[in-house]
Formats: sequence, C-alpha cells, structure tokens
Amino acid sequence: MSTDRKHISKTLRFEVFKRDSFKCQYCGAEAPNVLLHIDHIKPVAAGGTNDLTNLITACLPCNLGKRDVPLNDQVAVSKARAQMDELQERREQLELMMQWRESLRDLDQEVVERLAQYWHKYTPGWSLNDNGKQSIKKWLQQFSADEICKSMDSSATSYLKFNGDGKVTEESWVTAFDKILGICRVNRASRTDPDIKQLYYIRGILRNRIPGYFDDAKALQYLKNARSWDVPIDCLSELARSVKNWSQFSAGIGEAIQKMKAELGEGDEQL
Ligand SMILES: [Zn+2]
Repeated sequence: MSTDRKHISKTLRFEVFKRDSFKCQYCGAEAPNVLLHIDHIKPVAAGGTNDLTNLITACLPCNLGKRDVPLNDQVAVSKARAQMDELQERREQLELMMQWRESLRDLDQEVVERLAQYWHKYTPGWSLNDNGKQSIKKWLQQFSADEICKSMDSSATSYLKFNGDGKVTEESWVTAFDKILGICRVNRASRTDPDIKQLYYIRGILRNRIPGYFDDAKALQYLKNARSWDVPIDCLSELARSVKNWSQFSAGIGEAIQKMKAELGEGDEQL
C-alpha cells in the first residue's frame, strides 16, 4: 500500500516537524515520547502532493486512524526489525528536536543582545551587565522586541541627562533603564484605553504635589472613576495642579463627579 506514497525527503520532514513544534497535530503527543510521522492531509491516492501545506505531523496511531486500509500483520522478524528502525528513527528525531530547541534558545539570546546594543547606542560609555541583560530577557516574556525598542526611545528622550563632556550621567542612566518596563506597560495599556497615558501623567503631577500619604493605585482609580463620569481631562489636570494634600484631591474628585451627575440630572441621591 505504500507504493503510491511519494517519498518525503529528510529536509522536508524536518521542516514539517519544526513548523508543528515536533507535536502530533491531531492528539498533541510529542517527540521524543512518540515516533512522529508525516501525514498527507489530502491522501496521495486522492491526488495529494508533497507540498508543505499538504503535510502534517502525526503520531502513528493518529496517522493510522486516518488511513482507510489497516496495516497488514507482520511476521515476528520483520516486527523486531521495524522496532529497531523505529528506535533509530526516534533517536534521530530527538536529535533534530534538540537542535531546533537550541536554535530557538540561541535566537532568544540574540534578541537580548540586539536590544542591549540598541540601548547602548543611547548611552555610549556605559554597557549593560548580565543583570541588565537578564532584565531584558524577562521583559521579552511580556513584551515584543518592538515594544521594548519604542520604550527605550521614550525613556532615553525623557530621562537621560548628560554631563559637561557629553557623557550620560550614571544616575540618569540607572533611572532611564529602570523606566523602560513601566513605559512598555503604559504604552500597551494606552492602546486599549486611550485615556490612560494622560491619567498616568496627571497622577505623576499629583504625586509630586502631595506630600505624605499618597496611594498610587487609589489615585488612578479615582481618576478613572471621574473619567467614567466624563469629567474632562483638562478639569482633572487643573485639579491636580491645585490640590495640596490627599483629602483635597479626593474631595475634588467627588465634587467633579457630582457636577457631572447634576448635569445628567441624576441629582444627589446617587451619592
Ligand atoms: Zn497523535
């Protein structure tokens, strides 16, 4: 029955396995736990080709399950030989999979190095140590390289300071590097909530103005709450520039919301 199955080259098999992450695409079984095969989505007998798009990774049970003709029982000797062949094939697949995993890991490390270089361009004279690179690696679990580059751009512009001979000061270098992750977060949040960037900014003003007690999370919550009642951004930023302590701020937010409620005709009973 295998006479009409077209031969698939090792390279092509490897391409299909890599694309499918060395996993059976029907049941999820993985190399090296199972021996992987290549399945034709459209059978060769029905005119299916060896095109990458017609090939899929499958374990033996799944591959057989798709066939209309079951394999014939084999004699013991050829079964034993088949087992040896299978063992050898599994070793090769393990080796290929490990190579592939290693190349992915190398690529991850390359991305970290490239981002470190990108940051270095902003801060000649300073270079990132292993801890710094470790941080970048962590950021990459949450953010894309592109998002991190954009944050580096903003952070460099906003926080780097230079001394007399044009060198980035150590203090500003540390601050700017520390801000990159936060900027990534704000940028992403502001894509889903266009207000948030301005609210963060207003909170920054408040934080600078209000001595003593200040709750970051609560402040943002108050501002968001005010926005949910359509209190204008300008109004909030004016309020931020006029208050001197936390209770003035929270009272001011309350008043602003009451004003909006009154305009909506919802009166005081909503207090
Ligand atoms: Zn399977």
